[in-house]
Amino acid sequence: MLQDKDRIFTNLYGMHDRTLAGAKQRGHWDGTAGIIKKGREWIIEQMKASGLRGRGGAGFPTGLKWSFMPKESDGRPAYLVINADESEPGTCKDREIMRHDPHTLIEGALIASFAMNANTCYIYLRGEYIREREALQAAIDECYGAGLLGKNAAKSGWDFDLFLHHGAGAYICGEETALLESLEGKKGMPRMKPPFPAGAGLYGCPTTVNNVESIAVVPTILRRGPEWFAGFGRPNNSGTKLFGISGHVNNPCVVEEAMSISFEELIDKHCGGIRGGWDNLKAVIPGGSSVPCVRGENMRDAIMDFDYLRGELGSGLGTAAVIVMDKQTDIIKAIWRLAKFYKHESCGQCTPCREGTGWMMRVMDRLMRGEAEVEEIDMLWDVTKQVEGHTICALGDAAAWPIQGLIRNFRDEIEDRIRVNKQGKASIAAE
Ligand code: SF4
Repeated sequence: MLQDKDRIFTNLYGMHDRTLAGAKQRGHWDGTAGIIKKGREWIIEQMKASGLRGRGGAGFPTGLKWSFMPKESDGRPAYLVINADESEPGTCKDREIMRHDPHTLIEGALIASFAMNANTCYIYLRGEYIREREALQAAIDECYGAGLLGKNAAKSGWDFDLFLHHGAGAYICGEETALLESLEGKKGMPRMKPPFPAGAGLYGCPTTVNNVESIAVVPTILRRGPEWFAGFGRPNNSGTKLFGISGHVNNPCVVEEAMSISFEELIDKHCGGIRGGWDNLKAVIPGGSSVPCVRGENMRDAIMDFDYLRGELGSGLGTAAVIVMDKQTDIIKAIWRLAKFYKHESCGQCTPCREGTGWMMRVMDRLMRGEAEVEEIDMLWDVTKQVEGHTICALGDAAAWPIQGLIRNFRDEIEDRIRVNKQGKASIAAE
């Protein structure tokens, strides 16, 4: 279990002072100018050596992503944009950083922006996060007052401005290019790639979009050294990580833990176990609503990291939003609800997603009520395969995968429901 001395987020639960003075007391904003003076190359190399993989879901190596930004400006400004849209159902970790430990994010934004030659950073905040915005803005104002932001930020010699931008509550604006469109004041619709944001992002300028947690861990990694961070978790899955556990556990929580912790340890140590005991565990969605669910018995020994969940269980770590479902759950209904969500949030730009999400939702609706034919299960599977990988952005995949997970793991339950429904109708007809 991760020890307190190794926690990056020292005020995750808001029990301590979240002002600048409190943050400094807990070790934040310590030697920031010294870190910046070591130069861009050094920072990027350290980040690569730490093995940090993006915490927004895709798990792309953060240091490598930063290295895609142009080393010299061609006259255009560069931007860092922090994705604080956090709209994936089940995901609730970044909000804890923003409302209780905002200085980790602000200090990280300064260092990361410097490393990417950006004098300006935007934090794109989910529309519903009103309190988080207030907390973050108060922290930013304090930093401007203390000379940590603005001209010669933190006496580093780097001029740096940080702005908050509030979204309007659309899930798709968490997709990085839709987020950039929205930030530019347009409708939040994903862009075709290439060009990638590092070449032409915000206002056509080189841009990197990073998740809140990815940026907030940067200062501590640089202060304590990449070896320290890489010392947690298995190779290629290093570091500490915020897990957000919801659903049928005794104490749902957000907790910082070492990567590659076992699922059983995570649940027993931090959540007080499964509601009704381990034998009552039915299914787990281990990484936010877009990754396929896994049967409970396969999760017990699972290692909570990118490679294990994808390679061994055909699911994913995603945002580490762990949704636990016990045997009282109607799993078909639960996945139908997700299908409904993705249908609602499709931006409608590409046909497989616009039509497919509605189609999948309607079939799921009938499967949930048992009013379908067994053959339709295979037809639904085929449709998910036609949507997956054939759309502009990953929402198509996100809509397809939960259904694939359901069919792969709980096909017997779907068939049973159809059969019971038919028998019920037959017996009513016979009476
Ligand atoms: Fe829009 Fe869906 Fe296409 Fe993404 S996959 S661009 S959400 S229609």
